[in-house]
Amino acid sequence: MSLDGTYDAGNIFAKILRGEAPSVRVFEDDHVLAFMDVFPQARGHTLVIPKHSTARNFLEEAPEIVGPLMLGVQRVARAVRAALNPDGLVVTQFNGAPAGQTVYHLHFHIIPRWTGQELRGHGVGAMADLDELKALAAQISAKIS
Ligand code: 5GP
Repeated sequence: MSLDGTYDAGNIFAKILRGEAPSVRVFEDDHVLAFMDVFPQARGHTLVIPKHSTARNFLEEAPEIVGPLMLGVQRVARAVRAALNPDGLVVTQFNGAPAGQTVYHLHFHIIPRWTGQELRGHGVGAMADLDELKALAAQISAKIS
């Protein structure tokens, strides 16, 4: 999939938003939904997506959605830090398959990093243990402010 294309309402994140697919939710407001990445690159890997959007990537997103979305990303990133006390934290986002994008509903990755711990591969890891994800989500959710 290139940078150009048509939004597919059957993508997995659209299904999660509609409640048609399961997810371990961390936070939501009127604008964004945050949930745990089920193939985490590190413990606490969290995704933030706009709720009212048919943008496949960041370049397509409407400015009035970008504002509240980025505030949501910052809010969740701060909660991840407060909950898990990482040494660093990656906030990233991929546009188009050559850049690493695999799901075509705009999303931001929040990935905690600890010194000396290698980052697992993007989209190649094992599925996380659901109970562990739920526990992490509860920890992060408790630190949303
Ligand atoms: P992208 O590669 O598009 O930047 O990121 C997609 C992310 O979604 C990947 O990190 C991948 O692990 C995650 N992912 C793929 N399928 C699912 C799913 O069904 N549920 C959740 N929670 N995450 C998913």
